[in-house]
Order: sequence, then structure tokens, then C-alpha cells
Amino acid sequence: MSKAKVVILGAGYAGLRALKSLQSKRLDIDITIVNKNSFHYESTYLHEVASGAHNAERISYEIKTVINPKQTTLIEDTVVVVNKDDKTVELEKTGLISFDYLIFALGFESESFGIKGVEHYGLPVVDIETAQKVDQHLRTQFSKYNETKDDAYLSVAVCGAGFTSIEYIGELTLQLPKLVKQYAVPIEKVQISCIEAMSTLLPMFDEKLADFGIQKLKDRGVNFIVGTPIKELTADSVIYEEAGELKSIKAKTIVWTTGVKGSSIVEASGFEQRRNRVMVENDLTAPGYPDIFIIGDCSAVMDSSTNRPYPPTAQIALKQGINAADNIEAKLKEKAMKPFTFTALGTVCSIGNNQAIGEVLGRNLKGYPASVMKKVIGDRSLIETGGVKIVATKGRFDFYR
Ligand SMILES: Cc1cc2nc3c(=O)[nH]c(=O)nc-3n(C[C@H](O)[C@H](O)[C@H](O)COP(=O)(O)OP(=O)(O)OC[C@H]3O[C@@H](n4cnc5c(N)ncnc54)[C@H](O)[C@@H]3O)c2cc1C
Repeated sequence: MSKAKVVILGAGYAGLRALKSLQSKRLDIDITIVNKNSFHYESTYLHEVASGAHNAERISYEIKTVINPKQTTLIEDTVVVVNKDDKTVELEKTGLISFDYLIFALGFESESFGIKGVEHYGLPVVDIETAQKVDQHLRTQFSKYNETKDDAYLSVAVCGAGFTSIEYIGELTLQLPKLVKQYAVPIEKVQISCIEAMSTLLPMFDEKLADFGIQKLKDRGVNFIVGTPIKELTADSVIYEEAGELKSIKAKTIVWTTGVKGSSIVEASGFEQRRNRVMVENDLTAPGYPDIFIIGDCSAVMDSSTNRPYPPTAQIALKQGINAADNIEAKLKEKAMKPFTFTALGTVCSIGNNQAIGEVLGRNLKGYPASVMKKVIGDRSLIETGGVKIVATKGRFDFYR
């Protein structure tokens, strides 16, 4: 009898953790992992690349370091569609590959909410390429200021005030002194604005904690425009609505971090979905497809305490990776499937290198201790998937980095 074929799509938090867990089980199976690039990147640190604080190498490592070549094959290719009834996956260069069990973990994409101009003028932060583009774009605008003396080249508009926006702004404000020196531009003319539709900022934290974080950013000169839905982006402006009136802010750098949806391959493959997220069964399989597991940001899992899906996070993605691997083992051994359960350990939001706010295991943290906690959480996850050597080679044991 031929070995069962397990295919994992995506080598992000969810996919790579599933791979690591499956390999450790020493099952008699063949595993194939498909990813766009040969490397894994830690999406939770993309803002550091976007702000120019760190280079891409710092937050990425080669997938082959996690692979057991005796059992697993890496295909560096782009997934086009999953033919769920035929149990095949179409890849851009390789063509069709077949599977007995599939783990679908293709992560997230930027959400435009259908707002005019976003696709053209908004700069998303969703992977290494887009994060690097934000940094390069801002540098180009700063250098153009000296040719034109147009202040719009020194204006950065960050759309949305969710986690990614706040973490990006936090890091950018700390990078600014270096940037203005490098491009010889006047720091007093640099404007960083954050435009948010909701009137409450960082609502996931208690009010005092959120105020502490926002005040830190205001002290660094950030202008928050809140309760103002964005209506349109143009090449050099963000148009928003305030008290029923349309207003605009000039900016040549427009960072679009208002929110994310799951991979568009979810919809292309015909799964029942909402914003490219599949409401999975409690064993993490897609409804009607017991051999297809959907995990990470492409999945939605209901939180019975709030009656809403859990927010998509690396934390839940990692746990789902382990659970999906356990359930593939259970299927192969004809044992009962393990229902997925999740308790969030907390959330920490960076406001720039050694400052953060967070709620961890019911305790509120702020300032340096919170930033250390953020780094400990990130390093722990990196050790568990990539190994201690990778953490050390990336200089990640330095908590003042
Ligand atoms: C700036 C930022 C900060 C964040 N901070 C936190 C935090 O503090 N805590 C937290 O828990 N979460 C945080 N998140 C959210 C977290 O990063 C995501 O929830 C998590 O990355 C989801 O994991 P995933 O495995 O589903 O997707 P990803 O980690 O995005 O992995 C998807 C993988 O699939 C690959 N891929 C995508 N499409 C294709 C295709 N068509 N073909 C082949 N390969 C493909 C990608 O290259 C990638 O390797 C943050 C996100 C951002 C952007």
C-alpha cells in the first residue's frame, strides 16, 4: 500500500508548525509543503521591516532548516486553486499535485473594503515584499522633498489604527531621527498622521493602557484623526469624512493597514467563506471536506464566550497547526478526532522597540516590561518552530534590540 500523501499549503506560522508537529510523529507518510518563497517570515514583525528598523533577514529563515528531507519535500511555487473534490492542488509552475490530506494555511491579504484608490495608492504591509516597499517608498519621497520642497513628500498617512498601524507608527517614530539625517530633511516638517474610522483607539486593551500607548505616540508628534471613515485615496491625499463633511490630508506616503482578510485562494477554490475565512468544523476541517484542514488566518473559529470568531492571530494559528497535525495522525490511526480549543494568553502591542502595552494572563503591562514580554513571546515561538540556533543567529536574545 502506498504511503498517505499530506500536502501543506503555506509555510507561515500555521503551516510550518503543522509540518514540525507532523514530522515529530514519525508516521509512515509523505509530506509536501508548498510556499511562494524558500523562506519563512514572521508576519508579526513585518512593521519592523516596513519602518526600516530591521532588514528582512532578521525576521525570516530558510524553510529547509525545519524540513526532514527523508519525509518532506518543499515545493517553492504559488498555489492557484485547490480542486477540493478531485483532491488536487494547482500550482503556478509545477501544475497539479494530489493529496490524501490537505492543510490549507495560506495566511492573509490586505482588505480594501472596496474604497476607491486603495489598490492604486495604498501601501499594504502583508509580506516581506510589501513591507520592504513601504520603507523604500518613504525613502524615495524623503529624497524627492529636497528637489521639490513640497511638504507632501514628508507627510506619511497611516490608514487604520489597528495593531499593524500602531506597531508601524511606533517603530517609524523611533527611526525618524536617523531617516531625516540620512536624507537631510527638516524633522519639524515631517508629519505622521493616523486616520481611523472608529472613535476608540486600541479597544482590545483597557482604557488606561490604551491611553498610555496613544499618548506615547502623540508625544512623538503623531497626529490622530479618529471617528473619521476614509472615503478615497488619491496619489497624494487621503479623503475622509468628519461630522458629515469631506476633508483631506496631503501625503505622498499612504500606508494601508486598515485590516486583513484570508487568502483569495479560499474563494477561488469555492469554499464557503466570509472575507476569505472558512468557518471550520470543531476538528478544523472544512465543512463537507473531512480531509481538508483550514488553519491560520484563512479559518474562522467561534469563541463561545463572545459569540464571535476569535481574531486571527499568530497565537491561534500556531495552536491550530499542532491540532491539525494531531487530527491527521488520528485519521491515519482511525482514532477519534480532537476538537480544537483555544484560550488566548493575552496580547502585546509594540509602540516601538523597547516600549509596548499588553495584557498577558490577565495582567496589564506597559513600557519596557511589556516590550520584553513581546520579545519573549516572539522568541519562544521562533525556538519552537525554527530552533534555538536561529534565535541566536538573529540576535534575538537581546531584549533591548
Ligand atoms: C505587523 C503585524 C503584527 C502582528 N502582530 C501580532 C501579534 O503581536 N500577535 C499575534 O498573535 N498576531 C499578530 N499578527 C497577526 C499574525 O501575523 C497572523 O495572524 C499570522 O501570521 C497568521 O498565520 P498564518 O500561518 O495563517 O499566515 P502567514 O504567517 O501569513 O503565512 C502564510 C504563508 O503562506 C504563503 N503564501 C501565501 N499565499 C500563497 C500562495 N498563493 N502560494 C504559496 N504560498 C503562499 C506566504 O508566503 C506565507 O509563508 C500581526 C500581523 C502583522 C501584519
